[in-house]
Amino acid sequence: AENDKHVKDKSDRATQEQVLDGRTRLVLAGLVNRDIIGPFTHCISTGKEANVYHATASPNRPLSLQQYSEFAVKIYRTSILHFRARQAYMEGEHRFQGEYTSSRNPRKMVRVWAEKELRNLRRLEQGGVRGPKAIELKENVLVMEFLGDGDSASPRLKDAPIEADRLPDLYAELLIAMRKMYQHCRLVHADLSEYNILYHQSHLYIIDVSQSVEHDHPRAFDFMRTDIRNVDDYFRRRSGGEVNTLGFRRTWDFVVNDTVGSLTKEDEMGEDGDIRLTDVLQTWLAKPDGENLAIQLARPDLEVLAKERDSATQVDEAVFMTSYIPRNLAQVYDPERDVELLRRGDHDKLIYAGITNLSLGAKSQSHEVTGDENHSPGKT
Ligand code: ADP
Ligand code: MG
Repeated sequence: AENDKHVKDKSDRATQEQVLDGRTRLVLAGLVNRDIIGPFTHCISTGKEANVYHATASPNRPLSLQQYSEFAVKIYRTSILHFRARQAYMEGEHRFQGEYTSSRNPRKMVRVWAEKELRNLRRLEQGGVRGPKAIELKENVLVMEFLGDGDSASPRLKDAPIEADRLPDLYAELLIAMRKMYQHCRLVHADLSEYNILYHQSHLYIIDVSQSVEHDHPRAFDFMRTDIRNVDDYFRRRSGGEVNTLGFRRTWDFVVNDTVGSLTKEDEMGEDGDIRLTDVLQTWLAKPDGENLAIQLARPDLEVLAKERDSATQVDEAVFMTSYIPRNLAQVYDPERDVELLRRGDHDKLIYAGITNLSLGAKSQSHEVTGDENHSPGKT
């Protein structure tokens, strides 16, 4: 036991030293001196890129923070190691161009990530998507609203004890959050899964948005596809197939298409927007997946996947996951074919058919696309 304790002490110290370098300690001291945070009580999570701590709020905190008695403090590691892997997210982010790519200074790079998380949390809030409120950012230290009960943090969706009969509602809530995040916040989470969703006060809260990208990031659609797969797979798996999910392809339509059902943008933005979206979702869920058969017939080579009852759906999903989805009009590699599909009413074969705002900006970059207005998918 003595030995164990020694090892534990040693690892505690190692963890602390890794995150809390001298400069970070100064930043924390500053937050204490400014009467924002009080003492840290415990570490909630140690991750590759950041640690998250629970801190009590300073008793002398400003009036604007009276409502908070505690905070979650996320401290991004200043070691450069793990941040390299995130470059793919940053490249193509016009908000942060230069700041990141030109920087050879790891501290500065990490600060940009922390700032991204702060800004994205604010965007969630503005777009009406549940997440922790961002309170304060100083260098690599982000202070946010603590989601928990007393001083114990709310569980991740993965670990949350949730009654089976609540799952369908939570699934609907999450799909609507994804739609709002895309349509209102103009962001793609890019690391969405049961690990980055907290179950707090019977609702789902989105966290960990430092890698989230603009909806027009060159890889936004790839990230979106993975997010969608994670969510759909998780709810199906967790419920043992009991929760009726939309499947990848139809989730894509529900999240990314400009409008769903007969709702106008104003309907969605309105006070009972969530209720209206839930209604649309329920209608979609009640509809069988018959239209997917067309795709199955077009790809007999994928039939080996199609063993179970819902084989058509599975094949459709496989096609969807491997389909090329253009990010802007310049990438619509065969506009004539696509227009022909639309004319024939084969909307479903165009994965981007419901997106009218494909970025026009890049059209001059590659091959000519004539008559852009007319090629704009979905405006038929
Ligand atoms: P990482 O980059 O390490 O994954 P996250 O932002 O996902 O960072 O946070 C790690 C963990 O810390 C989460 O899984 C969650 O358990 C906890 N956590 C993060 N933010 C909060 C918060 N605002 N309130 C309570 N717990 C949080
Ligand atoms: Mg995380």
